[in-house]
Amino acid sequence: MDIHEYQAKEILSNFGVAVPAGALAYSPEQAAYRARELGGEKWIVKAQVHAGGRGKAGGVKLCESDNEIYEACEGMFGRKLVTHQTGPEGKGIYRVYVEAAVPIDREIYLGFVMDRSTQRVMIVASSEGGMEIEEIAETRPDSIVRSIVEPAVGLQEFQAREIAFSLGIEPGLVQQMVRTLKGCYAAFSESDATMVEINPLVVTGDDRILALDAKMSFDDNALFRHPQISELRDKSQEDPRESNAADRGLAYVGLDGNIGCIVNGAGLAMATMDTIKLAGGEPANFLDIGGGASPERVAKAFRLVLSDSNVQAVLVNIFAGINRCDWVAEGVVQVLKELNLEIPVVVRLAGTNVEEGQKILAQSGLPVIRANTLMEAAQRAVSAWKSDAFASAS
Ligand code: GDP
Ligand code: MN
Repeated sequence: MDIHEYQAKEILSNFGVAVPAGALAYSPEQAAYRARELGGEKWIVKAQVHAGGRGKAGGVKLCESDNEIYEACEGMFGRKLVTHQTGPEGKGIYRVYVEAAVPIDREIYLGFVMDRSTQRVMIVASSEGGMEIEEIAETRPDSIVRSIVEPAVGLQEFQAREIAFSLGIEPGLVQQMVRTLKGCYAAFSESDATMVEINPLVVTGDDRILALDAKMSFDDNALFRHPQISELRDKSQEDPRESNAADRGLAYVGLDGNIGCIVNGAGLAMATMDTIKLAGGEPANFLDIGGGASPERVAKAFRLVLSDSNVQAVLVNIFAGINRCDWVAEGVVQVLKELNLEIPVVVRLAGTNVEEGQKILAQSGLPVIRANTLMEAAQRAVSAWKSDAFASAS
């Protein structure tokens, strides 16, 4: 799960990371009022969307008067911001964050990510802040500093100092940098984050180190133990198909193809998507219904897949261990009876109670296409989809 910049800044500042003074606003009037409350003569108005690259896309504006704040806000509220990270449809702007502008001396890149090969948190930093990390990696790879944190002891002072020195932080500011690094690491590990990115982290003209931007993502599977973070979910920023799935406790990722997939287990779901491609089709989604799925859960998953209007055929692929093929079949029959579907449905069942499952499908009298192997299932789904699409086009 992703959160907004202002939310990430609040979390980080609770862990001792310094951030500029700022306040949230839901309307241009409120933004102007917030600016007056903050005081000073220059403010930054920042569109709150779950995506980076806002600066270049017009989502970050420097303002020097009430009028300029109104103008900046008029260009943001209710519009979609399209950045290189949002995709062409963009993300809606419903909140802006108003910050007191700060004089910037230096911009630094700072990121905390999970490094899969070492299975540790990796700190990635660069003296070339402001640019995206991908761009830094291309143009100034030598400027990137990497450091792995040993989880048993956490981020150590000496390690943080080492990072500060390699970034060329001047001696008088090293202690502030250490505090920032340790704060980020604590926020990362204590809130089960998967990513913390501060770009830019700045050194100001008056010798402060401030997080000017902040992004955090969290492990969905650990959100249950962080109710305060779960509450920060903003569905206006998510693919509605995915928030629907999250609400139903299903692991779902929406894709661009036409063949809906209902599968148990992430590995089998991936293999199913690959096989659909191999058979010449495109999957509409990744969906893992998990283990021990009741007929109701299967039906729910089915309705979710069908709520995507791009879906023109459905492939149910279950390799039942903890699951039961008869329950899956019951769920499929339940949905098909209720919805009067006009698209082809292919079902491949294997494992626990497979005979009962097949019997339920056969006796239902419904036009379910059955298959015995994954390859066969994928081929049948693709060819049924093709002939169906051809029939409706002609
Ligand atoms: P992003 O484009 O979505 O990553 O948004 P950022 O929050 O990183 O803002 C984009 C750029 O705006 C930053 O890289 C800064 O150069 C600039 N910026 C943001 N806040 C301030 C500020 O308080 N003062 C100044 N001078 N520039 C700022
Ligand atoms: Mn940024």
